[in-house]
Amino acid sequence: MQLTPQLLPNLIQAIADVIENNAEEVTALDQAIGDGDHIINLQRGIQTLIAQSAELSQLDWATAWQKIGMTLMTTVGGASGSLYGTLFMAMSKASRERSLTLSTFAEVYTQGVEAVKQRGKADAGEKTMLDVLIPVADSLRQSSVEAVELPVALTQLTDVALAGMESTRDMLATKGRASFLEERSRGHVDAGAKTAQLMICAIVAVLVERLTTPA
Ligand code: ADP
Ligand code: MG
Repeated sequence: MQLTPQLLPNLIQAIADVIENNAEEVTALDQAIGDGDHIINLQRGIQTLIAQSAELSQLDWATAWQKIGMTLMTTVGGASGSLYGTLFMAMSKASRERSLTLSTFAEVYTQGVEAVKQRGKADAGEKTMLDVLIPVADSLRQSSVEAVELPVALTQLTDVALAGMESTRDMLATKGRASFLEERSRGHVDAGAKTAQLMICAIVAVLVERLTTPA
């Protein structure tokens, strides 16, 4: 298997870079309909993960996801901290004793997203990160059923994540701080959907490069 946790330092750095490069834009979004702290919250978690990345790279995926989940839960704060913490801890729980293929990963990630839905008492269409996370889970399961080649399946996630992020622009927020604005929440992309899209696209880029570069 080419995609081992030894990739985690690269993945975490790619996420740190994409968040840093889009910090101003996302903060403006979060100031429009949230409280403006989303990027700072995420960066606190990402910096801790960078410090842990050598250690994480030596673990198996289930153990690494557990540790990542705990770190995000305890360092990020805000709604996004407990939601991302929940995502990774549920993925860890779902992946124990299983080897990782596209089909098992699609299932494991779907379980993670289901746990996020429960934790946030939210679903698709409520103008949150779930409007990116859910279509990405659907796309992974679809690719697994159709036995799509892994690099193709991953590349498709880029478009799916972008479409999900964009779909939040005209939605009415019914969860989180943006919901306090009611109708005035329309017209802005949700900050958490935007960072979910950016992070997923950054992960895809690292994985696809790894899969398509001869060893
Ligand atoms: P807070 O809203 O507590 O300040 P952040 O600013 O870090 O936390 O994160 C806000 C993002 O979290 C939102 O943009 C949204 O995508 C996501 N979010 C908030 N509440 C929920 C929820 N109940 N379910 C799913 N996602 C949510
Ligand atoms: Mg906030």
